[in-house]
Amino acid sequence: MSEFCIIGSGISGSTIANLLNEKHSVILFDKARGPGGRASFKRIKGKTGFDHGTQYISPKTRKFKKFAKDLIKKRILKVWGGKHVFLNSKKKEDIKHLKIIGKNGNNDISKHLLDKINCNYHNELKKIYYRNKLWHLLFDDGKLRSFKSLILTCPFPQLKKLSKKFINNPFLNKPIKMDANITTMIAIKKNKKSNSSYLFEDPILGWAGNENSKKRFQSKYDLWTLQSTFNWANKKINKNKNNKKENSKIMIDKFFKLSNIKKTKIYYSLNHGWKYSSNSKSFRIKSYWDSKKKLGVCADWFVGPRLESGWISAHDLFKKISR
Ligand SMILES: Cc1cc2nc3c(=O)[nH]c(=O)nc-3n(C[C@H](O)[C@H](O)[C@H](O)COP(=O)(O)OP(=O)(O)OC[C@H]3O[C@@H](n4cnc5c(N)ncnc54)[C@H](O)[C@@H]3O)c2cc1C
Repeated sequence: MSEFCIIGSGISGSTIANLLNEKHSVILFDKARGPGGRASFKRIKGKTGFDHGTQYISPKTRKFKKFAKDLIKKRILKVWGGKHVFLNSKKKEDIKHLKIIGKNGNNDISKHLLDKINCNYHNELKKIYYRNKLWHLLFDDGKLRSFKSLILTCPFPQLKKLSKKFINNPFLNKPIKMDANITTMIAIKKNKKSNSSYLFEDPILGWAGNENSKKRFQSKYDLWTLQSTFNWANKKINKNKNNKKENSKIMIDKFFKLSNIKKTKIYYSLNHGWKYSSNSKSFRIKSYWDSKKKLGVCADWFVGPRLESGWISAHDLFKKISR
């Protein structure tokens, strides 16, 4: 029996798994097809694909800067060059901050951290029970698996649903709302002069990233990832599954209009709705650890809305476990 069971292979799950694996036996489960969580890479063909969640990382803290620099040296991460167009007067552009991306996809950090971990995908945790000092986990394949220690890294609403019977801490009762995001991925006619990204000031379209400018693959098309604003997605997300075509069309029309790119044929289009994309408020605690029951929680939403926040939360949990 593995000592620690970790749910989630995003930055929080992969970081805590990597840290614990030095001294403990660890097993990880994720309901998704592969690693990365909200930093996953949607592969289309060969190396071709889209970063459809996290667009880039821009480290803020000293420790995370060092971590990112080390991964650049190891050729796991790299700097995203080219021309990034900033069209938003309400947000301040921080030109000092680099845009850092995975060499092959933005889930490269999780892949690297999980290199030595026993990972099991396509396994959704449905319910948890605590009996005789063990965590008994019921998965969607009907199997009940038991572990001494459990670490959860799900988005806040999913975490609350799974664990509210077992966590007696004020953080669980906070009225936290995670914003939605609607992402549309498109392939259009190639234009060698395309910019690398656009940050828009618009009620519907927030951002567009040019996947070809990341220099990971050669494609005969220009691949663009379009991401909505939170406000628009919050209104549309519950019906997005039924309105994918319509919502994508609104975003694509906006993209051509705002970027001044000549409207061309859409060769490929895919819509992905993120119900829980991020939350902008932080908690007083950066992670949760119950040393008696051996139940831990780490996730970005403790700290902030960015990938770095998940990494910080996982390190904080590791410190608490190691005390
Ligand atoms: C559209 C979008 C754009 C973003 N852009 C940026 C950006 O440019 N820069 C940046 O720094 N951050 C960005 N973020 C935020 C960043 O992606 C997150 O902060 C970070 O990835 C969160 O990592 P995490 O490990 O805490 O959670 P997650 O990545 O959500 O990981 C949780 C994992 O748990 C799994 N899981 C959940 N419930 C269960 C269950 N019951 N059973 C099994 N598995 C389960 C999920 O499948 C998932 O893999 C963006 C997010 C989105 C959605």
